[in-house]
Amino acid sequence: MAKKRARDKRGASTQSVHAGEPRVHALNSITTPLLQTSTYTFADTQELCDHFEHRIEREEYGRYGNPTQRVAEKKLAALDSAEDGLLFSSGMAAITTTLFAILSRGAHVVVTADAYRRTRQFLNQTLGRYGVDVSTVPAGDFDRIEEAIRPTTRVIFSESPTNPYNRVVDLERLVEIAKQHRVKTIIDSTFATPINQRPIEFGIDLVIHSATKYLGGHNDLMAGSVVGSQPLIDAIRELQGITGAVPDPFAAYLLIRGIKTLALRVARQNENAEKIAGFLNSHTKIGVVHYPSLASHPEHKIAKRQMTGFGGVVSFEVEGDLDSASRLVDGCKIPRIAPSLGGVESLIEQPALMSFYELTTEERLQVGIKDNLVRYSVGIEDADDLIADLDQALTGV
Ligand SMILES: *Cc1c(COP(=O)(O)O)cnc(C)c1O
Repeated sequence: MAKKRARDKRGASTQSVHAGEPRVHALNSITTPLLQTSTYTFADTQELCDHFEHRIEREEYGRYGNPTQRVAEKKLAALDSAEDGLLFSSGMAAITTTLFAILSRGAHVVVTADAYRRTRQFLNQTLGRYGVDVSTVPAGDFDRIEEAIRPTTRVIFSESPTNPYNRVVDLERLVEIAKQHRVKTIIDSTFATPINQRPIEFGIDLVIHSATKYLGGHNDLMAGSVVGSQPLIDAIRELQGITGAVPDPFAAYLLIRGIKTLALRVARQNENAEKIAGFLNSHTKIGVVHYPSLASHPEHKIAKRQMTGFGGVVSFEVEGDLDSASRLVDGCKIPRIAPSLGGVESLIEQPALMSFYELTTEERLQVGIKDNLVRYSVGIEDADDLIADLDQALTGV
């Protein structure tokens, strides 16, 4: 990892707790105050003029930022070794605003397949209406990625690990190709969190997270983030002030609170998921297990090299059909059936019956979603309990 950029020497747990926070808060509060306000007052016209002439630094109006939001942004930037960060009302708000800020009519985007459903839709359907071309290539196929690049290509966008198959993209190779062609790189690093992977250190330009997932960690808020270099973040912030996908201050407050335990939670989730993947991998009623710790995973070696943990999502195929997988899901007594992932509670779902419900089996197969696929977002419960629960559920499959 010769190209790794130096990061803050402090460990991820110390950063989760302290990064981005001033040593002294208002009224000596230890927590970052929640500034539940939409606007900010000016003492007089002179102060207003000083503000617009950048002679003083202060807030103006809620859509342009909030002090609670700023602390969350600085914490996220520090965790991902980035210069600055920007918080949004959701992960999709982060993705759409970032792409709108970088792209213009006639531009071309390369996106890797196996991505969050709404990201695929935004790229292939929405952006198309604005004159942006998109090529979808298989994650990990660098020949296809390079072939897809055109003179008009502005961005390569990829998840890593991907949703739901946990494919891992070799970030060093991606950056090498992108630099050759002067193309920007964006990684949706939601599945990894900054605890398991810091793409900026490999030279990736922008890193996006659905903070709704691991960063919030308690299934009680919606937010999204992008981190990267100062000029890029400034440009995206400018557009956010126009398009308005800003987080509520309370969501920013909850996010700061959630991130305090991020390193602890993710360490536990990595550990639990690895145990569950091992258990499932040796079970006769389970087919392929998609988890990067397994030697059978196509990018196991890359994941070992560029990640410090394999994440909390285990996807696997139940031997049989759609109904076999449903019997397993329904037989589990600990994980709840719900969309989303990354929270302290384990969640389980069949992508075919959740995000891809309205498609036919054939349409789902075209986008790579198998009927018997189950996605398990492993929480912080005791691994032994989760495994015993899966074991009993499998007797009913
Ligand atoms: C959930 C998710 C998103 C979208 O985030 P929201 O906060 O739900 O808008 C984007 N990418 C990935 C990988 C996700 O899991």
